[in-house]
Amino acid sequence: MALVNENFLKLQNSYLFADIAKKVNAFKTLNPKADIIRMGIGDVTRPLAPVCIEAMKNAVEELAHAETFRGYGPEQGYDFLQEAIVKNDFAPRGIKLETSEIFVSDGAKSDTGNIGDILGLDNIFGVTDPIYPVYIDSNVMAGRAGMFQDGHWNNVHYMPCNAENNFVPEIPKKRLDFVYLCYPNNPTGTVITREELKKWVDYALENDCLILYDAAYEAFIQDPEIPHSIYEIKGAKKCAIEFHSYSKTAGFTGVRCGYTVIPKEVTALTEGGDKVSLNQLWNRRQCTKFNGASYITQRGAEAIYTEEGKQQVKATIDYYMGNAKMLCNALTSLGIKCFGGENAPYIWFKTPNGESSWKFFEKMLYEAHLVTTPGVGFGPSGEGYIRLTAFGQREDCEEAVNRLKKWMR
Ligand SMILES: *Cc1c(COP(=O)(O)O)cnc(C)c1O
Repeated sequence: MALVNENFLKLQNSYLFADIAKKVNAFKTLNPKADIIRMGIGDVTRPLAPVCIEAMKNAVEELAHAETFRGYGPEQGYDFLQEAIVKNDFAPRGIKLETSEIFVSDGAKSDTGNIGDILGLDNIFGVTDPIYPVYIDSNVMAGRAGMFQDGHWNNVHYMPCNAENNFVPEIPKKRLDFVYLCYPNNPTGTVITREELKKWVDYALENDCLILYDAAYEAFIQDPEIPHSIYEIKGAKKCAIEFHSYSKTAGFTGVRCGYTVIPKEVTALTEGGDKVSLNQLWNRRQCTKFNGASYITQRGAEAIYTEEGKQQVKATIDYYMGNAKMLCNALTSLGIKCFGGENAPYIWFKTPNGESSWKFFEKMLYEAHLVTTPGVGFGPSGEGYIRLTAFGQREDCEEAVNRLKKWMR
């Protein structure tokens, strides 16, 4: 009989969203008439931009005729999308990239989860705590995280992010081989300044550390001083891989498209001490295990970069950020300090009386009929925090604010 990959058996089942669903269902059984508002989901609710719909319809029509039909596309993505990315997402910020440094994919979850394929198992790596769970779990599957003991993986370097350090981890005292950073951050909704990001790039250059930078929420940045890409920092092209996604930017959570940037200069070591280009390795990995994002999807993504597309996408982002502002204002007026929500669609706050995340979650559910996400579900440093998302409908947000105000006063 085939043997399993034992690493998968080490995984701690993350019951976070299942646990939430269970608690919500239990509540509903007791209170069948209650009108629940969900502010826990990390999924978008607004429809796709009309330019994307039009572009995807046209692409389908092309596939309907022998003369314009297309089969397999390039594993790295079509030129038209790679060029639009280089020209629109990077050139205006003074970042020069070649199209061969852009790898289009079906989203940032796959890429952040798969990138470990090209990295050795003996690497020591760091993660922020709280965290987007993919970064740790994909390393557990690979056998790089060690054993789970006392709530921690013993081969993982955890970097706590909390109100005290403004949700940006301290520069590690020891050398790490690679590190995951995500800004604007899920779950905390907080950002990193140019100065703080520079410290990380400098650390990476000095210590030959690779930074895996998740920029999935870059489009939500409102403050012109906050960097959208790590490559805005000098030297980052030598030490960083950056992940992008159209999921939150343009409502592509169901369409599926994103891309990863691997500059040619980024290298890692062989056991013999030779430097190998990670761009080449990732290219080889993708060509073997991935056959490209669909043509239709990539045409839809390309349309985001037209003038009309930019306006339509911005309107949707403004809508969500309007929700975020409303929620933040409400919490602030109730005397609760609110983190995030200014440059990201997530709001993160401490439970008022030092209650546990789950206790406060239940209170909010039973007393205000609001569903949130307990911060502890994202890691031990999330204990005592609650995450709200701004991805809901405006009317639901307004009603949530009314309930919060009544309930907390
Ligand atoms: C939503 C999200 C992504 C995007 O994942 P896709 O696979 O592109 O939908 C990536 N990173 C973080 C932190 C996210 O929250």
